[in-house]
Amino acid sequence: MTKRDYYEILGVGRAATDAEIKSAYRQLALKHHPDRNAGDKAAEEKFKEAAEAYAVLADPEKRAAYDRFGHAGVGAAAGGVDPTIFADFGDILGGLGDIFGFGDLFGARRPGGPRRGADLRYDLEITFQESAHGVETSIQVPRQESCERCSGSGAAPGTSPVPCPHCHGRGQLRYQQGFLTVTRTCGQCAGVGRVITKPCTTCRGTGQVVKERKLTVKIPAGIASGQQLRLVGEGERGSTGGRAGDLYVVVHVQDHPALKRDGDDLYCEVAVNFPTLVLGGEISVPTIDGDEPVRVKEGTAADSLMTLRGKGMPNVSGRGRGDLHIRLRVSVPRKLTREQRQQLEELSRSLPPAQLSPRRDDEEGRTVFDRVKDIFGS
Ligand SMILES: [Zn+2]
Ligand SMILES: [Zn+2]
Repeated sequence: MTKRDYYEILGVGRAATDAEIKSAYRQLALKHHPDRNAGDKAAEEKFKEAAEAYAVLADPEKRAAYDRFGHAGVGAAAGGVDPTIFADFGDILGGLGDIFGFGDLFGARRPGGPRRGADLRYDLEITFQESAHGVETSIQVPRQESCERCSGSGAAPGTSPVPCPHCHGRGQLRYQQGFLTVTRTCGQCAGVGRVITKPCTTCRGTGQVVKERKLTVKIPAGIASGQQLRLVGEGERGSTGGRAGDLYVVVHVQDHPALKRDGDDLYCEVAVNFPTLVLGGEISVPTIDGDEPVRVKEGTAADSLMTLRGKGMPNVSGRGRGDLHIRLRVSVPRKLTREQRQQLEELSRSLPPAQLSPRRDDEEGRTVFDRVKDIFGS
């Protein structure tokens, strides 16, 4: 059997414009559409034949090759169909599956075709302690579920949806505008092709009801604010065989009264008495495991930083723990007893008088003088 001429298949002349080719193909695709010719092998062949012809004639390069060399110019079965050529036909080709051998291009677009469920977001607030140690908690997620009363059809029990009288069940309305056939979604049935005459009272005809679903979520130790967990398949259900969406649990961690987090490291400030800095001693430091005693060395400078290795946050991916950095502030008492005052005055008299010395002014050990130089551009 010899191959038919592509122009002949589409019923257009050799000089046909792109718009004419497109319109001709649309009409053929509709005429031989498998939905309207169930089980009709001849129609299916014609449907595929038209698609092959269109794949070549809609592609300027392939059309030129075909015009010059015929079928030999474009190879067997128009090898390498560019699927984007069919992008404007999602309304009629959608949901047909792999009929051209390039996958289900339109599955997601066609009304009534398989559709992936929507992703859901759930905001979960946890305490700082829970973020540090991990927690298993249960959450209630509202989700659309199929209505049990009408089995998801939306029609009152005992009735069923009928083909839409407006579009005769096609879901689409077509108009002829010059050479072009214009298609738009039927407003009556929103493109579904069926309408419900007596809606189910439980779901008011939507076929879906919102139900709270209880899920257990395992929050790993070390999770930080803004990080999210993805629960695959726990989003909205897909329709007509589409897979369910995912649920994203977005974690919000409450502040700790004393500890601040930066990466896996923690920071805090502890006010220490002057004698403790001078003589050394034990202070109490907040950690994620509660307050812990920490030794301050003799002669520790005010505002100095102590680091406790491995006392920070656990890494959320399990790579050890961060550090805890403690800034030692001097606590200056506002009120003194008479005795304390006398002792301090005595101490003050025994210490050398105040001296002028460049003061360490910030973290990098830069002095006030460096800063003055910065300002006046020495
Ligand atoms: Zn219902
Ligand atoms: Zn309709």
